[in-house]
Amino acid sequence: MKKWNLFLVFLVSTVLMAACGAHQSNGEPGKSDNDKLHVVTTYSILYDIVKNIGGDRVEIHSLAPVGSNPHEYDPLPADVKKTTDADAVFYNGLNLEAGNSWFEKLLHTAGKSGSDAPVFRMSEGVAAKHLTTKGKESEEDPHAWLDIRNGIKYAENARDALIKIDPSHKETYEQNAKSYIEKLDALHQEAVKQYNLIPKEQRVLVTSEGAFKYFSEAYHFDAAYIWEINAENQGTPEQVREVVDIIREKKLPALFVETSIDPRSMEMVSRETGVPIVGTVFTDSLGKPGEDGDTYIKMMEWNIKTIYDGLTKK
Ligand SMILES: [Zn+2]
Repeated sequence: MKKWNLFLVFLVSTVLMAACGAHQSNGEPGKSDNDKLHVVTTYSILYDIVKNIGGDRVEIHSLAPVGSNPHEYDPLPADVKKTTDADAVFYNGLNLEAGNSWFEKLLHTAGKSGSDAPVFRMSEGVAAKHLTTKGKESEEDPHAWLDIRNGIKYAENARDALIKIDPSHKETYEQNAKSYIEKLDALHQEAVKQYNLIPKEQRVLVTSEGAFKYFSEAYHFDAAYIWEINAENQGTPEQVREVVDIIREKKLPALFVETSIDPRSMEMVSRETGVPIVGTVFTDSLGKPGEDGDTYIKMMEWNIKTIYDGLTKK
């Protein structure tokens, strides 16, 4: 009888352990519960794009949390485990996940730094723009997704990667990508139409980080910023003084601040110049789930409207 009890306890705990494990990756790529693919993305914008292509086939863990800055991130033990177990890992590239080499180190720790590892660069095929700050001209600017045409490239890259690792569901990924890309294309056309209503000389965007190079080219804007790319030295007195001079010289009427950046530097610029902060824009992160801008399409819609309203307000 005792033996039988012990066997039951063993059986029940084995079943329980298996049930608990079902919500996590089991360490065997491609052989996970419900046959879903376990995917890791470096930040929320990629999470949403891959989700749109992968649909129910993918279970995604996003590393840098919503509202945070993906240029620099300290992976947690759970992130290392998920990355180790992942069937595919998606990152932006173009110098985004480069702060403190956090992503490179994570791939190394997770055993995914080999050339045959299922690690995919979402910005593949994007024509890279470079920083203009003296001494940094060889560094790429990562913010390609703010031009929706590049967002379409990201979607195509996600589609091709998912087909590569899960060819038996090729049709699903192709269909999902087709309808998603149609929506992105319509949004890009809408942005072009809307911004054409703003006289060219009024199309100037002032933000904390200089994240709008790709956007500016796509929608014919000029851009000014306090610092060019998120790094340790942001919002120094010298950077603030420089942008204040530009704003005064060009008589720029409106300032914007990003959701994923401490607003105090821009508030200081606003006080110095008397120019108001007219809106908050999404750059490096989506909005919180259930709130404004919680998908790539919604964040871009929000930006298009906020920038239009901010620059045309009388
Ligand atoms: Zn950024």
